Amino acid sequence: MPTIPGQLTPSPRLLLGPGPSDAHPRVLTAMTTPLLGHLDPQFLELMNETQEMIRTVYQTKNKMTFPISATGTAGMETCLVNLLEPGDKAVICAKGYFGNRMIDIAGRTGAEVTTLTVPWGQVFDLNVIRETLQKVRPRVLGIVHAETSTGAHQPIEELGKLCHEFNTLLVVDAVTSVGCTPVEVDAWELDAVFTCSQKGLGCPPGLSPITFSERAMDVVRNRKIKCRSWYFDLSLISTYWGGDRAYHHTGPISMVYALREGLRVVLEEGLETRFARHVRNHHALKAGLEAIGLTYTADPAHQLPQLNAVRIPAGIDDVACRKKLLNDFGIEIGGGLGDFKGVAWRIGLMGYNSKPSSVLLVLAAMEQVLKSAGAAIEPGRGVAAAEGVYAQKV
Ligand SMILES: *Cc1c(COP(=O)(O)O)cnc(C)c1O
Repeated sequence: MPTIPGQLTPSPRLLLGPGPSDAHPRVLTAMTTPLLGHLDPQFLELMNETQEMIRTVYQTKNKMTFPISATGTAGMETCLVNLLEPGDKAVICAKGYFGNRMIDIAGRTGAEVTTLTVPWGQVFDLNVIRETLQKVRPRVLGIVHAETSTGAHQPIEELGKLCHEFNTLLVVDAVTSVGCTPVEVDAWELDAVFTCSQKGLGCPPGLSPITFSERAMDVVRNRKIKCRSWYFDLSLISTYWGGDRAYHHTGPISMVYALREGLRVVLEEGLETRFARHVRNHHALKAGLEAIGLTYTADPAHQLPQLNAVRIPAGIDDVACRKKLLNDFGIEIGGGLGDFKGVAWRIGLMGYNSKPSSVLLVLAAMEQVLKSAGAAIEPGRGVAAAEGVYAQKV
């Protein structure tokens, strides 16, 4: 008889990387609720409630708002495969790893993709985007709001209006921003937006809430050829998440329970309070990291509060340090991706994990780890600097 693996007993972890971040305990409890059928009238009601809460978090009235049954990348793919047809023009702005992923997916739709880039850590100037829109006149412009590979926060408040001057639809990757920093879909005129469950919303990975404006839905409805993906074809999925509630695929019941609870937690706290909490904990972490000599990779004027990417000091072993953080302290932080592999560490303070205990713990642990790796630091300075920030009145 083959040996049966042992009971599931993972070590306790504090997930302070780029995601997944720890799920809120209430979310994990919700997931143990017994299953309903995916067409049970009670489940249909939970779907309605979940959709309405997603609209509130996105600050939109868009009818086409629901979670795709897969991770954030599936949201990205849904937006691009539904809006682009072979031969269409698309402009994708890449300032890091996830912008590059968008370029790849947009290209696979058969669209003609024009790429705009800035060095990693920087953000795009809207005047440069304007020039490109004028020249290319694309159907779609894609951009990452919160670039998780660099920690850069792209300003997009005026970008929707700019795109609409050129009859272009704006697709926004809000995977790392939703639940951490403002995303105002209607006020900012965003056309297709996607996020995920496991970062700012404090749930496990598995769902990707999306929203499409009426302007975007007009394009979807007037496609010349069928969407190349069956699973992500909005005209088909909307039979389940839209009005009819007909079978498309089996809804991931426990994940919908999780997302519903995660959204309840977000709305009970209130969006403004939640965003302010992320800023405050970021300030404390930043003060601490800088006090131990670590510097940020992103343009300081455009730094995300929820994703803190810092340069690994010269002579310090990236993998050994992260291993020690995990084994000795149970803390996970992220290594660098793409151009920043071996160059940066990424500390996420997202959703449930954006709190003083995470900040003070990760600073104390990093001080120990860096010191034992030979860095010339005085343990305690980082923690003291963070405590100094917390001592200030809000
Ligand atoms: C995490 C992330 C994604 C991908 O999401 P998955 O859930 O891993 O598929 C896309 N874009 C950004 C900016 C991300 O941070």
